[in-house]
Amino acid sequence: MKICDYLREGNFSLSFEFFPPKDEKGKIQLFQTLDRLLKFSPTFVSITYGAGGSTRDRTFNTVKEIKEKYNLTVMPHLTCVAHDKKEVLEILETYKEIGIENILALRGDQPKDAPKKGFCKYAVDLVRLIKEYFGKHFCIGVACYPEGHQEAKSLEEDIDHLKEKLEAGADFAITQMFFDNSYFFRFKELLIKKGINVPILVGVMPITNFKQIKKFADMCGATIPLDLAKKLSEVQDKPEEVFKIGVDYAIKQCEELLDFGVDGFHIYTLNKAEAAENILEALKDKIFSPGKRF
Ligand SMILES: Cc1cc2nc3c(=O)[nH]c(=O)nc-3n(C[C@H](O)[C@H](O)[C@H](O)COP(=O)(O)OP(=O)(O)OC[C@H]3O[C@@H](n4cnc5c(N)ncnc54)[C@H](O)[C@@H]3O)c2cc1C
Repeated sequence: MKICDYLREGNFSLSFEFFPPKDEKGKIQLFQTLDRLLKFSPTFVSITYGAGGSTRDRTFNTVKEIKEKYNLTVMPHLTCVAHDKKEVLEILETYKEIGIENILALRGDQPKDAPKKGFCKYAVDLVRLIKEYFGKHFCIGVACYPEGHQEAKSLEEDIDHLKEKLEAGADFAITQMFFDNSYFFRFKELLIKKGINVPILVGVMPITNFKQIKKFADMCGATIPLDLAKKLSEVQDKPEEVFKIGVDYAIKQCEELLDFGVDGFHIYTLNKAEAAENILEALKDKIFSPGKRF
């Protein structure tokens, strides 16, 4: 299924993001997680990619296995940084051969230990390449940043670059994690002002490990509200309490976003089921009520 066709009909989208497992133990965990999350009938699942190609085979194999085992719509992420055009085209061709119709087109961050190959300065270059060589075969998703991407001079300029990706042929966008909805509301206002009206799927990151999320948030520039950070830091060595605070917070955040009216949730699972399950159980009347999603 093409995600853009599903979204075009005004359907609410629910998706889960996984990373490709490193070993057999990780693979068992991923499939157990998927088995538990299937009851929510995800619109699609996505598999991350290591910028520079560090997970090239693992991402491909995970995508293929999930597609074959579950007959789910699977969207591989693909970063173009540190790849040349030929490599990217080869990867896309192998996805086309196994019937993949959706790609999350990203620039990625140049790994220190990988050579710069220069073909792709920004994600828009990848979007253009996909369009040039594959026409309408792939429905293309891209990343967007309600707080602005860290390298961007301003949020407005970052949104202009998002617009370039959409004008080049991207069909929808998925947000970076954010923990303060006011950033998303302001972002949506700016999108409307700039005439951007593609579906925006909200990336939801449940906080289950404060130290880890703090690191992720620092890396991608997501603000953790002070009162939430304070509550979490007070219990940071008590995993069960962190989990409860983090999941309750995500539920409230998602409820507010549903009331506002969003196109879908893309849950960053980190290959674990429990937090996503708790959130979706709590939201099920709002998301799964008749006429709302199916
Ligand atoms: C939903 C989601 C999934 C992700 N999955 C992965 C993954 O699987 N693997 C991974 O390595 N990373 C992943 N990332 C992280 C992403 O690769 C990084 O955030 C990266 O720094 C930017 O990628 P991008 O595709 O947004 O880049 P771009 O859209 O190219 O933007 C990068 C920066 O360049 C600026 N820019 C864009 N075009 C221009 C231009 N023409 N002139 C000047 N400046 C410009 C933008 O404003 C921005 O500041 C993901 C991010 C999100 C939100």
